[in-house]
Amino acid sequence: MNVLTKPEVIGTIEELRSRLADAQKRIECERAERGEAGGPPRIVLVPTMGALHAGHLTLVRRARSIGDIVVVSIFVNPLQFGVGEDLGSYPRTLEADVAALAEEGVPFVFAPTSQVIYPDGAASTRVTAGAVGSLFEGAARPGHFDGMLTVVAKLFNIVGPDVAVFGQKDAQQVFLVERMLADLNFRPAIEVVPIVREDGGLALSSRNLALEPVQRAAARALSAGLEAAASVAAQGAQVALQAAHARIDAQPLVKLDYLVVVDPQTFLPVGDEHHGPARMLVAALVGHTRLIDNVALDLP
Ligand code: AMP
Repeated sequence: MNVLTKPEVIGTIEELRSRLADAQKRIECERAERGEAGGPPRIVLVPTMGALHAGHLTLVRRARSIGDIVVVSIFVNPLQFGVGEDLGSYPRTLEADVAALAEEGVPFVFAPTSQVIYPDGAASTRVTAGAVGSLFEGAARPGHFDGMLTVVAKLFNIVGPDVAVFGQKDAQQVFLVERMLADLNFRPAIEVVPIVREDGGLALSSRNLALEPVQRAAARALSAGLEAAASVAAQGAQVALQAAHARIDAQPLVKLDYLVVVDPQTFLPVGDEHHGPARMLVAALVGHTRLIDNVALDLP
């Protein structure tokens, strides 16, 4: 590990703001000394829940390529977990995460406690995700998207990023964050990074750590189903759904929750009446582990 690039791990809002202000001033001075023009240094935020894998690191690399100061937040947000969900067992690997971010040259890791983010217990003012927030992941996890949007809004206000980077893996999250930005006039631009997969197709996820080898092999049916769907999408949504079902339903360890095709503009389900770009979404339980994945479809 390169000691020079070791990130500062910051736990409080005051310290983060002060360190970011210092970093911005320093970059501005360096630029002025070199006689360079350009606007204020750009802050890029990568919000995560930690247990970082190559998917997260792809977001981090994108962040570095577009901004001057990268902040990776690591916060397992209790507000987006329902009763009986895996808040307690969600993997927490801060030391390894910081080491991985050091390798990527990230200067700032914001790793607050729940007490810092929710000093009065759960926030009583919340962002509500609207109708799309109750579909798909929101139907399976009531309140999940309100909790997610609330913490994302707080992180935007705490960090003040010019750009925030999200992964396409959480397609409904991306849709709802973009909706929130438009509806509530938040400032940052959003960058979306394509899904990073392991060999065999399974989308990388911190939750994959909980899979037994046999479950991990079975979980590949999800990406295989989506791939099969994309390859026949020219025949319409129904044929694509059948192709995906054929792969996923054949795998007894995979308990399908939903498999749908949505209009990317509205995130509402569509069928054969829909033409052009669409997205197929899947969610399933493999053992006790909830997995999601999605793929773009080009419908005729
Ligand atoms: P999480 O820590 O799971 O909340 O994820 C933090 C960010 O990383 C979210 O924007 C995710 O969509 C993104 N992400 C997680 N897994 C992947 C992946 N396999 N490919 C691309 N982005 C991902």
